[in-house]
Amino acid sequence: MSSTVFDDAVNRLSRIGEQTGCSKLVIDALSHANAMLKVHVEVRMDDGHTRYFPGYRCQHNNILGPTKGGIRFHPDVGAQEVQALALWMTLKCAVVDIPFGGAKGGVSVDPKALSPMELERLSRSYVRAMADFIGPERDIPAPDVYTNARIMGWMMDEYEKITRVKNPAVITGKPIALGGSLGRDDATGRGAYLCIKALEQRDCLTPEETTVAVQGFGNGGYHVARLLANDGYKVVAISDSQGGIYRQQGLDVKSVYQQKQDHKELKAVYCDGSVCETVDHDTLSNSELLTKDVDILIPAALDSVITCDNASDIQARYIVEIANGPITSDADAVLKDKGVIVIPDILANAGGVTVSYFEWVQNRTGYRWSKTKVREELKEVMSNAFKRANTLVQEKGLDFRDAVYAVALERLSNAIEAHGTPDYFNGA
Ligand code: GLU
Repeated sequence: MSSTVFDDAVNRLSRIGEQTGCSKLVIDALSHANAMLKVHVEVRMDDGHTRYFPGYRCQHNNILGPTKGGIRFHPDVGAQEVQALALWMTLKCAVVDIPFGGAKGGVSVDPKALSPMELERLSRSYVRAMADFIGPERDIPAPDVYTNARIMGWMMDEYEKITRVKNPAVITGKPIALGGSLGRDDATGRGAYLCIKALEQRDCLTPEETTVAVQGFGNGGYHVARLLANDGYKVVAISDSQGGIYRQQGLDVKSVYQQKQDHKELKAVYCDGSVCETVDHDTLSNSELLTKDVDILIPAALDSVITCDNASDIQARYIVEIANGPITSDADAVLKDKGVIVIPDILANAGGVTVSYFEWVQNRTGYRWSKTKVREELKEVMSNAFKRANTLVQEKGLDFRDAVYAVALERLSNAIEAHGTPDYFNGA
C-alpha cells in the first residue's frame, strides 16, 4: 500500500520525536486520531436533483482542550488528508500554547462549480450531518481552503437552529456582524508576517533588498504579501490556482489583488481612477514560482508542493509555510542540506487559530475586544512562540521545524504523562 499524507505526517512526528527525546508513549498517542466521522453531505441542486458529497471531520487529539480546526471545500479532500491536517492542528495549538486540541474537516467538492444557493445548502447540510460531533466545548470549526466568513455564518446559524440556543462559540472566523472577531480576517497572513519580522531582526534583513514569492493568493497569501509590501519588501512573484505573474522590480500587491477581485485573473494592472495600465510582467506556472531565485518563498496554497523531486531546485534562502504541509517529510533533509531556513506551518500559519481562540473567548464571555487588543495579543503570542523556537535553534542547533515540534511535543507530553506513565503503573 502506498504511503499517505497522514503516514508522512506521522513519520515526521516520529522522527523528530525520537531525535528530541520525546517518549514513545506520547508519539504513539499522537500517531492515532481520537475520532473520525465520514458522512455523505446531501445537497438539493438547483436543477432539482440531489447529490451526495463525501464529508469528513477528524478530531485528532483533545488532551489540551476542545478540538479546533478549519473545514475545507476542495475536490481533493479525503480521509487521509483530513487526518494529517488534524494532527498538524494539535501540534499548532500546542506551539502557540492555546488551550485547544486539533481537528479538521472537509467536503470533497468543487465549490467553484456550485451556485451560491447550492453552496449555502452544502454548508448547512454539512452541519446537520456533524451537529452531534461538534460543539463549543467539544470541537470548534473555522474557515480553511475555499471556505470563508459567510460560510461560517451559515454553519453557525444551522447549528443554532438545531440546538435552539444562541451559540456563536461553536464556530470561529464568522462575519463580525454575527459575533466574529475583529482582526480574524488577516490573522493568518499577519502571523506569518510577524514571523518574517522576527527573522528580519534576527538576521538583519533589509526589506527593500529582500525579494518574496507567494504561491497562492487566498486569504493567507494575500495578507502576508500586502503587509510585507507595506514594509518595503519586494514581492516579485504571486500565483493562484491558474498560474502566476513575475516582475523583477516588484509587484503592486493591492493592484494585483484588485484585478483578481474584479476580473478573476492575476495580472499586473495598475489603475488610477478609471485609467488602468498593464505594467510589464512575465507569467509563470505554479511550479516555476517555487524554484525562482528569491530570498523568501511563501507556499500559501496546498500541501505536498515541495517534494524530494523539486527540493534541490529551490533557490530561496527562507521558506515560510502558510499552507499546511507544503513540504513533504523527505524534502526536509534536502532543504536542510542546502541551508534553507524553513519556518514551519505549525508556527508560520498559527495566527489564524490564535485569533480564532480570541474569538471563542469573546463569544464565551460576551465581551468584544478592539482590533488593537486583538493585534497586540496576537503579536505577543507569535513573538513568544518564535522566541521559544529560536532559542532551541540557537542553543541546541535544531532547525526551526525540529524546534517547534520539540516545543509542541513537550507541552503535549506534560499533559499526556500527567495521566500516568508506564513507570507509575508498574509501581517503579
Ligand atoms: N484553517 C486554519 C488553520 O489551518 C484556521 C483554523 C482555526 O482557526 O481553527 O490553521
